[in-house]
Amino acid sequence: MLLVTIDTLRADHLGCYGHAAALTPTIDGLAARGVRFATAVAHVPLTGPSHASLLTGRTPLGHGFRDNGGYAIPAGVKTAAEDFRQAGYRTAAFVSGFPLDRRFGFDRGFDTYDDHLPRGNDPRRTPYVERLADATTDAALRWLAGPAPPSGTPFFLWVHYYDPHAPYEPPATLAGRFRTAPYDGEIAFVDVQLARLLRALDEGEPGRLGRTLVLVTADHGEALGEHGEDTHGLFVYDATLRVPWIMAGPAVAAGRVSATVARGIDLLPTLLDYAGIAPRAELEGRSLRPAAEGRGMSDAAAYAESLYAERELGWAPLHAWRTARFKLIDAPRPELYDLEADAAEKTNRVAQEAGLAGELRRTLAAAVSRPVPSAAVAVDGETAERLAALGYVSGGRGQTASGAARRDPKDGVRLLTRLNRGTSAARTDPALAIRELRSVLAEDPGLLMARRTLAVAYAAGGQHDLAVAELRRLEKEGQLTAEDAVVLGDNLRFSGRLAEAAGVLERTARDNPRFPEPWLSLAEVRIEERKNGDAAAAYEHVLSLAPDHLEALRGLGDLALLEGRLDAAETRYSRILEVEPGDAGALSKLGVLRMRAGRATEAIALFRRAVEREPGHGEALLYLAGALASTGHPAEALPFFEKALAVGPRSSMALNGLALAKLALGDRPGAAAAFGESLRIDPKQPDVARTLKEITGS
Ligand SMILES: [Zn+2]
Repeated sequence: MLLVTIDTLRADHLGCYGHAAALTPTIDGLAARGVRFATAVAHVPLTGPSHASLLTGRTPLGHGFRDNGGYAIPAGVKTAAEDFRQAGYRTAAFVSGFPLDRRFGFDRGFDTYDDHLPRGNDPRRTPYVERLADATTDAALRWLAGPAPPSGTPFFLWVHYYDPHAPYEPPATLAGRFRTAPYDGEIAFVDVQLARLLRALDEGEPGRLGRTLVLVTADHGEALGEHGEDTHGLFVYDATLRVPWIMAGPAVAAGRVSATVARGIDLLPTLLDYAGIAPRAELEGRSLRPAAEGRGMSDAAAYAESLYAERELGWAPLHAWRTARFKLIDAPRPELYDLEADAAEKTNRVAQEAGLAGELRRTLAAAVSRPVPSAAVAVDGETAERLAALGYVSGGRGQTASGAARRDPKDGVRLLTRLNRGTSAARTDPALAIRELRSVLAEDPGLLMARRTLAVAYAAGGQHDLAVAELRRLEKEGQLTAEDAVVLGDNLRFSGRLAEAAGVLERTARDNPRFPEPWLSLAEVRIEERKNGDAAAAYEHVLSLAPDHLEALRGLGDLALLEGRLDAAETRYSRILEVEPGDAGALSKLGVLRMRAGRATEAIALFRRAVEREPGHGEALLYLAGALASTGHPAEALPFFEKALAVGPRSSMALNGLALAKLALGDRPGAAAAFGESLRIDPKQPDVARTLKEITGS
């Protein structure tokens, strides 16, 4: 059994769904040898909640997981992996996006849950949020090629790809062809990787692909400008709810297109049906196998929601009810669409069809009024008490003063362009971000996301006290998320307020016992306090939460290196490379260990590999340059010093290296210029000052 979910994939951007410009031969090939559902719908346009529906067979009203962050699949809600494991399957998952991190409960029931996301090397992006499809496929391939299980043991493998999620940046091989449609280029790249995955099934064991049920779907689509929305999350229109649903396998007829509406909650019952496992009574969906086999199946109604506007923006939430033909959206100004006549949902018929709208609204209201299981990440007693003291009953986000009318997302969407511009500039152009975010906040002071991002922009601009002030204000209002609290802790550390930082981070760690980030930040505080033992303990705690967490391994390696425990350092860096063979940081540090052991040739080879993997890795460039220069190759070293200075900080160490290499090559004016700049950065370098004097003769 192979489940592939492709994040942010609109059905109508695949070749088999009629998109002429698509380059998706693998997915189209699966549709040709299997069944394609012409209409498949997600229940939420958000990664975490939608995957929770796919994997539990329940809508958000049934599993309680309502938004990315702040929720985890509750212990009482069973998942697909638990069903398959119980039935004797090997279970493994390889995911590519942070919303599916194990802390949110998606790992339950999986023997292997690989959510290793690289730090990434792109200053525009938050680190550790995405793994590209080739790396995820590599990891899945390693599992497929791993120790052979007793023959005949079936497997349930879930592979999640994240690439079509914004920003749209297909790899160089596809960037040219998709210059004007980079979103399609990302999809094409996933298609190539899916081909590798399917091939590997057969390579490991001939005929295995033919014996495997493969199901490809998505968690939600992408609006691409429809209804004024660029990406997804805000609205519950079909632009972001319609997804592909393609199945192929031994018991699936070839080339059939089913008109039955497939819903996210139908996925698990369908998989169980094909596996011959009896479905549990609490599943809300139904098996679509009869429809796949060409038997008539009437459409079942689908519930949809997005609480994104409420929780992230402080606006009204959206709930929707969809029948085979109509969709009602409950908003401050409700909407009704005739999907048969108006698939693009452009003509609101709520006034013309008042009777029908009223009936659908009552059905929706009845569904929504059911008790919903609590999937909110546990809040400890102390936090709950603090929140209660501030007037927040449950500590939920997005609450407004009682009775205040909340903005209809339709009216707020125009603010999102500026909000998104501010968000994407927060780390690279903080001044621009601060201007944009302040301007949207002037129009809507309740925009929580703008305030959170403003803190990040202040931090990126080095204005740590302003960042702290903004976050402390959110805290006072009971709106500080765990992620915000880590940013607060980091900014307190950058401002030198170490004890205060430790207090915030310890509390956040206690309130969110499965989150590694507070511990990683706490370790940095401990290092600055020169409490290396406490720092190591914090990193070890991260490893207990997330085995092989790369940054914890790196932290422990760096501490060992610092303390001269070279064997311990070697063990940690080597482990990183077992998990992530191209990790430039670990390659460089192993190179440093080789230099210390006097094995310069091996060191240089490691530095070169690091630079090949990450051409913009400043540290690796500098190590390579230094190693080349110190082994008598100044001419080779020179360009690497220059690159290191171009990408990294203009440190006096790098400038001195450059100067010495130039000097060795007889370029005295060049050397003098570099030494001069170095002295301006750090005037307390008597040796450098003396050498500069000798060169210039003054
Ligand atoms: Zn998603």
